[in-house]
This record gives sequence, structure tokens and C-alpha cells, in this order.
Amino acid sequence: MTVRTRFAPSPTGVLHLGSVRTALFCWLYARHCGGQFVLRIEDTDRQRSTPENVDAIVDGMAWLGLDADEGPFFQTERFDRYRAITEQWLDEGKAYRCYCTKEELDELRAGQKERGEKMRYDGRCRQRSEPCKAGDSVVRFKNPLDGDVVVDDLVRGRVVFSNAELDDLVIARSDGTPTYNFSVIVDDHDMKISHVIRGDDHLNNTPRQMNLLAALGAPPPAYAHLPMILGADGAKLSKRHGAVDIRDYREQGYLPEAVLNYLVRLGWSHGDQEVFSIEEMIRLFDVADVNQSASSFNPEKLLWLNQQHIISAPATRLSEALITHFEQAGLAPQDGPDLKDLADGFRERAETLTQMVSNARYCYEDFDEIDPKGAKKNLRPVILEPLKAVRERFASLSEWSKEAIGQSIEEVAASFGLNMGKLGQPIRVAVTGGTVSPPIDVTVSLVGRERTLERLDKGIRLIEARAQAHEN
Ligand code: GLU
Repeated sequence: MTVRTRFAPSPTGVLHLGSVRTALFCWLYARHCGGQFVLRIEDTDRQRSTPENVDAIVDGMAWLGLDADEGPFFQTERFDRYRAITEQWLDEGKAYRCYCTKEELDELRAGQKERGEKMRYDGRCRQRSEPCKAGDSVVRFKNPLDGDVVVDDLVRGRVVFSNAELDDLVIARSDGTPTYNFSVIVDDHDMKISHVIRGDDHLNNTPRQMNLLAALGAPPPAYAHLPMILGADGAKLSKRHGAVDIRDYREQGYLPEAVLNYLVRLGWSHGDQEVFSIEEMIRLFDVADVNQSASSFNPEKLLWLNQQHIISAPATRLSEALITHFEQAGLAPQDGPDLKDLADGFRERAETLTQMVSNARYCYEDFDEIDPKGAKKNLRPVILEPLKAVRERFASLSEWSKEAIGQSIEEVAASFGLNMGKLGQPIRVAVTGGTVSPPIDVTVSLVGRERTLERLDKGIRLIEARAQAHEN
């Protein structure tokens, strides 16, 4: 059997962490099995679906690298197909027109409520062969009246529903548009979906969908209902917990592989391994290993994983991902070192790409002022001559490399009887304006010769001015 999964978001909202976890599991399972992954946009709710949300979904999926083999398909482009099946079922007696008015249905429900019964349609229009009243009609599916529907869920195990609990579902509204459960099964059937993987808020729809599929003469797909993701406070994940547009994570400097790594662990594990590459996830993931219990969202862990992925990502990968962060920071990559070198120099100290660019700002732009505390402590008259000597060595280096820079600093330090750090820190403060940066040889090489010399000159002038002020 070819494994075919689908991700079927409704564009009534953006793509957020919860929906991405569903998309990821569908995508991973298809990739793991060498099958296909289909993207289907369930936009039948025309009032609440927006083109902006469709863009958010499509862009978000592209950023995450969750590529679809087919689609995006749009349900609004398939209305003819749903209508044809509705008509066919009406002809075959598998569905019927229901003319009940809103008032009639309200009355029915009120009676059931009063008697403490479950509220459900009682099938009163089932037997009518001719329209009995003028007015709008909906189409209802003749749900089997007895027997059970058994869902052998890959995550939840065996779940049994009694048909007596299910009423005759509306499959087409009075304006002819299909309802959710109906369009889903037509599509799952037409798109040859073998595995429906989705949030467990859909579990109650599954027996209805299985009955509908049976009416189509189609065997049901395998089902896997994923446990919920909760906020740290135990409540359903919401905006408050970071269930925001997934593209916000891109803006905040997360790598998509880190986001996916974080999400794969919500409901799935492989021993106690925490860090996974995409290739490892594909190789190891199996939907049968998803566990049933809800997991909670932990932003610190996401941040930690982001850092791990920044540390291990190839420099080319990071350099590509960094570009948009330069734009955001108002910096131009061509004004400083090659982004691959920057990535290698700064990857150890950044939790996000945004932070990395902000840490590296002095490599691309001059700073206005040296951190006063750092200057006071490090740019003192004792270091004046060593700094001048370093400046001269730097100016005459035939090759501007980390090795040559490191060696120059070492030799100058030795000639003044200083250890590396005693000279390294003043250089750092003069060249970066602050007290924290990558190793000094790396820092200086990334800042570049021209800027380094200018900034050392400034530092030297600062010390001289201070010494003078002191004398006067
Ligand atoms: N469109 C549904 C939703 O966004 C998903 C339907 C499904 O996966 O069957 O919740």
C-alpha cells in the first residue's frame, strides 16, 4: 500500500504551533514510508476563510520545508464534485432532503433537553418521498440506525461508537454548500488518503466519516488522532502561550529545523534523545509510536533547541537564514564579513539568529561610543604601548587571517610581559565597543583590517586623552 497522508487546515486562522505539529507528523510519516503528502485547504467556510490565512499557511509550510507532493487543493474548487455525490446519494436513497424549519428543530431540541435526552435530529424527514412543504431544504445522510462503529486508532487504540448516538448528519446546506464531514470524506477518498493523522478534537467526527465513506463504498483510511498540546499552565494552547503565526518564529530568529525538532517531541520520542536532524526524524518517526497523553508547550526548551541547531547547522545554511535578519536589523551583509564566516564565529553564543545579528552589529556598522565601564577598566595608560604595537603589527600583516592575528597578539603580549588576556580584552573593547565577543583572533578577523585599525586608533586616542587629563 502506498502511504498517502494529508494536512487539511482551514484558512480561518493562521498556521500555529498546534497545526504545524499535525502537519509535521503527516509529512514525516509520508516521508518515512516513501509515500506522498498532500496539502488541502479546507476553505468551505467562506465567511471565515481569508486569502491572508491561505498565504500564512502556504508560506509557513514553505519556510518549515514541509513540502507537499500534491496540492494545495482548495475545497471551494471542488463544489461540483460534492454536489454530484449528494445528488447520487439522493437518487440511491442514501440521503434525503430535510425540510424542517429552524423553529421545528428548536422545538425538537427543547423537548429533548427537557426529557434529559441527548440532542439529536430524530430523522422525521427520512420517510418523506415528496417535499411536504415549500421552503429551503438541507440534505441529510441516512446514518445506520444500529450497530457500532469501531475506530482502530493508531494512537488511541480501539474506540467504539454506537450508531444510536449519531444522528442524520446534514451533508449539504440549503445553499448547496457541503458541510465539513462530507467534504472531508469525499476528498480523502478521491485523494486516496491512506492515513488520516489529525488532532484528537476530531475523534468524534471519525465514526460519522467512516459511515459516510462506507456509503461511498470506500474502505476507511487508517486513523491517528494526536494528543493535544497544552500551555505550561495546563490550558489549551492559545495565543497567550505562543500559538501565534508560525512565521513569527522566523522573525524572532528561530530555525525551522529547531521548531520541527521541538514539535516532534510533543507526543513522540526516541529513547531520551532530544536533538534530531530532519533526516533522523524521517528515519525514526512512526505514527504507531505516538503516545496518547497531552504534552505541554515549553518555550525555554524551544529556545534551547534553537541554540543546538544553530551550533550544528552548516555555515551555508545559517548564512541563508541570516539574510532576513540583517534586513530586520537595518544592516547590509555586504558591509561586513562573509555571512558564513560570521555564522562560524558567532554561532556558539546565540540562542536565535536575531540575537546573532545583534551581537555581530559592530562587524557591519561603526558604534558611537565604547561601553564606558569597559573602557574605564580596560583602556588604561598601561596598555597604551602594547596597543600601539599591536596596531602596527596588524597594519603590516601580509595576510588578514585569524592565525596571523592571533600570532601577532601573542607576540606583542609576550614582548611586554603580558598574558594574552591582558592584551586581548583591551583590543576587544576598542574594536567591538563592548566586553563580550567571540575569541579575540576571530573577532578581529571578522571586523576586518580597516575597521580594526581605525578603532584601535580611537582607543589609543582615548587613552592618551585620559592620560593627559590625568596629568593636568
Ligand atoms: N480542516 C480541519 C481543521 O482545520 C481538519 C480536518 C481533518 O484533518 O480532517 O481542523
